[in-house]
Amino acid sequence: KQLYRQTCSETVQTNLGQLDISPTKLLLNQTTTSDDISLVKLIGQGRYGTVWKGEFNGREVAVKLYKQEHKLYFDNEIEMFRTDLMKHEFIVPFFTGSSRVNKGSSAVEYLLVMAYLPAGSLMHFLKEHSFPFAQLVQLASSAAGALAFLHTELRRGEGASKPAVVHRDFNSRNILVKSDGTCAISDLGFAVKVRGARLFSGQSAELIPDVGTLRYMPPEVLEGSVDLNKCEAALKQVDVYALALVLWEIWSRCVDLCPSAVDPYRMPFEAELGTRPNFEDMRELVSARRHRPVIPPTLDESSRFSGAAETLRQTLEESWDQDSEARLTAANVHMRLKQLGERQAPRHFNLPPLDDTTRGGILPS
Ligand code: ADP
Ligand code: MG
Ligand code: MG
Repeated sequence: KQLYRQTCSETVQTNLGQLDISPTKLLLNQTTTSDDISLVKLIGQGRYGTVWKGEFNGREVAVKLYKQEHKLYFDNEIEMFRTDLMKHEFIVPFFTGSSRVNKGSSAVEYLLVMAYLPAGSLMHFLKEHSFPFAQLVQLASSAAGALAFLHTELRRGEGASKPAVVHRDFNSRNILVKSDGTCAISDLGFAVKVRGARLFSGQSAELIPDVGTLRYMPPEVLEGSVDLNKCEAALKQVDVYALALVLWEIWSRCVDLCPSAVDPYRMPFEAELGTRPNFEDMRELVSARRHRPVIPPTLDESSRFSGAAETLRQTLEESWDQDSEARLTAANVHMRLKQLGERQAPRHFNLPPLDDTTRGGILPS
């Protein structure tokens, strides 16, 4: 665990003075100061900050507020969002970063401004909705596609390029649901750029001392045996394990893939370890006993979805394999899910417009 933390942690120094403009239409030729940003309503409480619905240049936005002591993660997250070619349909749109002095405590606070997605996190969405197969495909395929995009090194001609990025905290709270019913990745506070055996050059290797969410840690992280000679591959495999758990969460709420009525949403391993597992219990369950979330029972062969359920089961098992090197890549998973959708689910679901009073509970279920 210690090794994993040390070698795969880093931060990026960002000059806050130059954080005022991001290359979006919204911000062109404008300078952001914290005065332009207003916080309206608390919508999320994470480990290192609070997330607010707010306003920026007359537009509804989400603002993630970091305390001074967590500047390291703020700098890192901003750096990730500002990386060339990071603007993508599967990444939450980022607008700008800023800082301000809290009038009450005199402490400096850091603000990260992004698009506000009213449906909120995937976990929140799954708690509120069950859905047909076509919608499972949309959520699952975009979640896998988002991770595949993040993991891919891209070059565009002579100019822009994007290194491979690993998320390191992939989970259903850090995925947001868009109004078209697909997912976007958010919370890049722990993400790092990787190439081969090393962290991406040009980044300072200051320590980010804590990584990931315990419930989503694969056996090799729980055992402290991540293979650091293969930094890029090893960290991608950690993300893919978490992707498999997320796909299981989505599956658990799909009415077409559960033979009886769907159960209420539960987090991975909640059935086994409750809502607050400790490290030792997780290590024992996932690493020593090789336990994984229980996949819903096989569908009757006469069901239209029995083939899809079987493909999905295989995909999950190959993605959360105990042997990290045997796992599928995010791109493999994405391709399989896309093909599943093309074969079985021609319909496309758009979310009805949501506002805060109607959050949840209004999709066809
Ligand atoms: P942390 O790093 O503290 O975990 P996150 O970026 O994960 O912060 O945000 C915490 C929560 O806030 C998310 O799980 C989600 O519920 C909500 N949230 C974050 N960003 C947005 C957004 N752009 N639109 C709507 N809700 C958001
Ligand atoms: Mg988070
Ligand atoms: Mg975070």
